[in-house]
Amino acid sequence: MSRFISDKFSALTPYVPGEQPKDKSKYVKLNTNESPFPPSPLAQRYAAEAIEKTMLYSDPECYKLRSALAERYGVGEENVICGNGSDDLLNFAFSAFCDDEVPAVFADITYGFYKVFAQYNRVPYRIIPLKDDFTIDPADYYDAGGTVFIANPNAPTGIALTVCDIEGIIINNPDNIVVIDEAYVDFGAQSCVPLTKKYDNLIVVQTFSKSRSLAGARLGFAIADAALITDLNTMRNSTNPYNVNSVTQAAGVGSLSDRDYTEQNCQKIMKTRADTAKALAALGFKLTDSSANFIFAAHPSFPGEYLYKALREKGVLVRRFDVPRIKDHLRITVGTDGQMETLLNCLKLIIRGE
Ligand code: PMP
Repeated sequence: MSRFISDKFSALTPYVPGEQPKDKSKYVKLNTNESPFPPSPLAQRYAAEAIEKTMLYSDPECYKLRSALAERYGVGEENVICGNGSDDLLNFAFSAFCDDEVPAVFADITYGFYKVFAQYNRVPYRIIPLKDDFTIDPADYYDAGGTVFIANPNAPTGIALTVCDIEGIIINNPDNIVVIDEAYVDFGAQSCVPLTKKYDNLIVVQTFSKSRSLAGARLGFAIADAALITDLNTMRNSTNPYNVNSVTQAAGVGSLSDRDYTEQNCQKIMKTRADTAKALAALGFKLTDSSANFIFAAHPSFPGEYLYKALREKGVLVRRFDVPRIKDHLRITVGTDGQMETLLNCLKLIIRGE
């Protein structure tokens, strides 16, 4: 830190993303919930065409992409905003809808960036612990007294609430905003997008980083009542109106036109998740019921740090969070069947002490 940094940021602890090793080919990379499959051929083609026009600024309104999203999700274009990854939009929501009187409200075990966004925007936050089995009790969020942020499915547990439970939270917060972060929703959970037509205090955030294989393109979107989208656009236009570059916008349109491709990949991931979960359980692991493209597992006989390091030495990268309650858990991205076979073979060796 330099001696010049503003006092307001001197205590900020930035988010630490999962490791991106320099030599990726050395590792089976199961640590950042990326898709093991390439982006759809149509996304690749549209992106390649768009790069030829990058002497021009991108469309700040993301018009074509927003139209395609509006059509895909059955909402109006005025109900959609795009962002540089969904992190961009979550940050706008913390800026627009939290302040000294309106804290952010989120779980103790959830996406680690929520705490960082609260600190960055210098707004207070209130933490609600998950139950012992890592599930959320919806009633804990009734009359939350602030802006609620819930990842559904939650990360890193993978556990999903039903739309009915979330509707209960929305109804019981008539004067608070509820932000549902659906980064992993396409892997088996129910989306709350249809509820955005019914409630003017709901924002649903999604990403192209997981099910649509576009993590490196950085593309997210939010769907909500038009007035909320206007507020988010005020944040966007006051910081970076060109937040989504033109190559990414084109890739997004291509990906949306190739819906079958995304759905087939999600089906493959869900099948591999079920097979891997069964094999891990047979090795003695305890697992949560994940509706995401990752598995959250702990072994009663081996500390998480030991397993994490032993896997890394064998060339398999997984994610571990050194925080209370989950320090013995591993979050393992669901990759291809071949990648999961390598993971399981390595774990068998580690458990046998080899
Ligand atoms: N929400 C959750 C719960 C996540 O795990 C992630 C991925 N790190 C994000 C949002 C952000 O994803 P992106 O910015 O790539 O859209």
